[in-house]
Amino acid sequence: MAYVKVPAHGCQQHDYPGGGVATCQHISSSCCPSFSGGEGSFAEWRCSQCCVSRPHCSTADSPPPVSPSQAAASTIDGRKNRAGFFGEGEGKCLMESRLMGSSSENREHACAREAFPRAGNSQVLGEIQSSAADELSKASHLLKESAAALDNWPDRQQELEAVRSQLRPLRHHSTFHKQETKRMRTEPLLIAPAASAAATKRPREVSPSMPAVQRLWESNSNIADNESSDIPIDDEYEDEELQTVSDESSDPGNQNEPPLRNSLFSYVPPYVRFQMPIDGAQGEEIGLPAEVKRLLKWKLSPITPLVVRRTLLRSNFRLVKTTNDWAGTWGKHMKSALFTSIKDYQKMNHFPGTFQIGRKDRLWRNLHKLMQKFGKKEFGFMPKTYVLPQDLRLLRQAWEKTCGIEKWIVKPPASARGTGIRVVHKWSQIPKKRPLVVQRYIAQPYLINGSKFDLRLYVFVSSVDPLRIYLYDDGLVRFASVKYSNDMSSLHDRYMHLTNYSINKNSSHYTQNEDADACQGHKWTVKSLWTYLAQQGVNVNELWSRLEDLVVKTIISGESSIAPLIREHVSSRYCCYELFGVDVLLDEHLNPWLLEVNISPSLHSSSPLDQAVKGPMVCNLLNMAGYHIPNKLPSSMQKDFLRNLAPDVKTNQLCIDNRLYYIGLSRDEAAKQLFFTKEAYQREDYLGQILQNLSADDVRHLVQAEDELTQAGGFIRVFPTPYTHRYHQFFEGPRYYNMLFDAWETRYNSNRSPGISLLEDLCKQKYHLNIPALSARAKSSAETESATETALESKALQVPAPSEEPQHAESVLIQSIEESQVLSNPMTTKSARALAQQALMKAKKHHFPCWRRTYCFSALSSRCFKATRAKLQKTMTKSNSA
Ligand code: ADP
Repeated sequence: MAYVKVPAHGCQQHDYPGGGVATCQHISSSCCPSFSGGEGSFAEWRCSQCCVSRPHCSTADSPPPVSPSQAAASTIDGRKNRAGFFGEGEGKCLMESRLMGSSSENREHACAREAFPRAGNSQVLGEIQSSAADELSKASHLLKESAAALDNWPDRQQELEAVRSQLRPLRHHSTFHKQETKRMRTEPLLIAPAASAAATKRPREVSPSMPAVQRLWESNSNIADNESSDIPIDDEYEDEELQTVSDESSDPGNQNEPPLRNSLFSYVPPYVRFQMPIDGAQGEEIGLPAEVKRLLKWKLSPITPLVVRRTLLRSNFRLVKTTNDWAGTWGKHMKSALFTSIKDYQKMNHFPGTFQIGRKDRLWRNLHKLMQKFGKKEFGFMPKTYVLPQDLRLLRQAWEKTCGIEKWIVKPPASARGTGIRVVHKWSQIPKKRPLVVQRYIAQPYLINGSKFDLRLYVFVSSVDPLRIYLYDDGLVRFASVKYSNDMSSLHDRYMHLTNYSINKNSSHYTQNEDADACQGHKWTVKSLWTYLAQQGVNVNELWSRLEDLVVKTIISGESSIAPLIREHVSSRYCCYELFGVDVLLDEHLNPWLLEVNISPSLHSSSPLDQAVKGPMVCNLLNMAGYHIPNKLPSSMQKDFLRNLAPDVKTNQLCIDNRLYYIGLSRDEAAKQLFFTKEAYQREDYLGQILQNLSADDVRHLVQAEDELTQAGGFIRVFPTPYTHRYHQFFEGPRYYNMLFDAWETRYNSNRSPGISLLEDLCKQKYHLNIPALSARAKSSAETESATETALESKALQVPAPSEEPQHAESVLIQSIEESQVLSNPMTTKSARALAQQALMKAKKHHFPCWRRTYCFSALSSRCFKATRAKLQKTMTKSNSA
C-alpha cells in the first residue's frame, strides 16, 4: 500500500504504510496503524482543521466530537506535556487520545507502548506508563476545564455585559434613592425641583429586564427617550425646592366632606373624594379605615408637584416612593410600550403618544397636515414653522421672499423654559445642521402697559376615544419684564421678547403679584386679564370662543396618532388621563397664536396667585379623573365599610369594578358601531337612531362621562358639546363614540335629568355591567351558531400549558381566530378580530399565567358557542383559582 501524505485540506481517512487507517478527531472511525517509521515521516500527517500531526490514533470506534476550542486547548496543553515529559509526537498522541475521549487505561497503555517501543524493560515501561497516566489525567482535567471555559467565553461575556448593563442604572438609582431619602427625611414635601434636577442626572437606559415599576420610574426620569421623554418639563419646577409644608406627611388635614363620593348611578362603586388643602379649615373628620387607606398608595415621581401631593395627603392617599402596588401616580411622560405595565386599578396622568402634540416639531407637522387639507382659516393658528434640517430649503425660499426684513424665532424642538431660544433676523444666525424649529416671530404682539405677555391655559383630556376635552376657566398671564420694542437692535434681549417665568424672574425689573384678582406685577390670572380686557372694550366672550376652537383643533390634530397607541398599549379605560398646558400669544388684533403644548405643565404653586389658580384646578382634575379603591378587599368587608362610609351608595362594591372600564365589545355592540361608522355617519342619520337601544358599552361610556361632568368645577367641557359636531370632519374617519356623545349632548345638554334617569334605569338592572363574555345576547346568539362548535372547542382546548411559550399561545390564538373568521359572517369577523386584538393585548400585559384565560375568553366572547362556553368556563375557573 502506498504511503500517502494527507492532502492540505484532508482530514479524511488515509492509508498508512503499515496498514490501517489514520484519523484525527474530525473523522469518526480510526484504528492504530502498526508503527514503524520515524517522527519525521509522520510530521506530514496533519489535519488541516486542527493542524495536529498524527502518528497514530486510538482504537476507539467512534470518538466523541471535540469542539474547536478543545482542539485549540489540546494543542496548547500538548506542547506543555511535550516539554515536560514526552517527546513531541508521543505527548501529542496521548493527549489527543484523551481529548478524543479514549480515556480508558488500555488505550493510554497502548499509546505508551507505541511511544516507547524500544525500551524493552517492562517494569520501567510500567512505571513510565503509570506516571504518564497520572500526568495525563491531571492534564486532561485541566484541559477539560480550560476547554469548557473557552467554549463558554462568548456566552459569559454576554452574560457579564447584560449584568453590567442592569447594574449600571441600578447603581445610579440606588445613589439617587439614597440622596432622595436623605432629602425627604429633612424636607418631607420638597420634591420637585431637586428631584427633577436629579432626574436629569439619572441614567437613560431602561432595561426590559427591570421590574415594570422600576422601568416606569426609570423611564419617567429619562430625558433622552426618542419619543416621549424628549418632552420638556415646564417652567418653574425648580422653585418648589424652596417650599416646605410642615407636618403634612403625617396629618391628613381637616376634612369637611366624606372621604368617598358616590356615583350618580347604581352599581358603580364610589370614588375617592379629593379635597383642597385649605389651611386652618375645621370640620368633622371622617377618615377611611386603615384597611382601605392601606390600598390608597400614590407613587411619587421626581416631578410630582407640591400642589398634587398636598391634595393627596388631604384625601387619604399615602405617598410612597417605591412600590409596584400604587393606585395613582403623577410623573413625566413615558414610552408608549410601558403603558402596558399599568394595571387595571392604576391610573396615571398621561396617555401614550401625546408627544405628538407635546413636541414643537410634531405639533407643527400635525397641524400643518390638517391645514393643507382644511385650509389656513381653520388651522392657520400656529405661526409658520420650519423643522430643520429637513425644511432648510423651504426656509431659505421663504427667507428670500421676505428679503430678510422679517424676524424669526429659533427653538429646540423639545425643550422648555425658554432654553435655547433666540430671536433672529440674519440667515447666518440660523444653525443649519442641528434639529431646530424656526418659527415666524409674532412681531406685533398685544401689549399691556407696553409689555408683551402670553397665556397659559389648562386643558384636561379625560378620554381620547370618545374625545372629551375640558378647558379650565382660569390660567396664567405671564409678562415680559422689559417693555417691548420692535427694534432690530433689541432682539437679543430675552427679558423683552420671551415671557417665560424662568427667564424673567431673574430680571431686576420683575415684580411678583401675590393677589390673584389684581392686574399688577408680571403675572396675572386669566380671569384678571378678562376683566382688564373687558374694561378696554374687548369682546372677551368671542376671544374665549376662539381659544376654545384653538384648543379643540390642537387636540384633534394629535388624535389620529394617539388613539391607536392607546388601543395598542392601554388595556382599561380607567388607566389614563392627561393635563396639558397650552401657551397662546395674542397679537395686536387679539388673534390667538398657538406657541406650544406642554404635556408636563408646571403646577408650581408657591405664590398665592399660583395657588389660587392651580389648587382648585388640581382638585377638580383629580375628582374628574375619578379614582376608585383598588379591588383588594373581600366582598364582605367591602359591604361593611360601605355601610359606614357611604350609606346612600347604590352598590355593594366599595372597590373598583373593572367591568365598568372594559374595552371589549360584544358582537352586537361591534355590529352597531360598524353600522354607524360605515352606513349612518351623517349627522341627520345618527342623531335619530344612535341613542335607540343603547348597548351596555354605550351606557358605560355615558355613565362615566356624566359622573365626570359633576366634578368639573372650573373646567368647561369644550368637546363634546351640542355644537362641536362640526369638528368631526377633522378626524381621520367617523368615530362612533363621538357621534354617540354628539347625539347625547344634543338631546340632554340643556336638561340632563332625563338622560341621567334613563341611564340610572339601565344601571339598576346592572345592564352596564354586561361585558361580552357574560352578555345574555351573546348567549342567545350562541345557540344559533353551532356549526363550528367542534372546531372551536378543539382549538380552545389546545390552549398551551403554562410551561409553553407565550409566542406559541399567540400563534394558536391567531390561528384559531383566523379559522373562525373563515366560518363566520363579515360582521362577526370584525368583532372577532377586535376581540382577538384585545385578548392579545391583555395576554401580553398580564404575562403568561393569563394567556390561558384570555385565550379562552377571547374564543368564548368572539364566537359565542354554547357548548364551548361551558367547557371554557370550567377552564377559566380552574386557571383563575390556580
Ligand atoms: P418654551 O417651551 O421654551 O417656553 P415657547 O415656544 O413657549 O418655548 O417660547 C418661549 C417664549 O418665546 C414664549 O413664551 C413667547 O414669549 C416667545 N415666543 C415663542 N414663539 C414666539 C413667536 N412665534 N412669536 C413671538 N414670540 C414667541
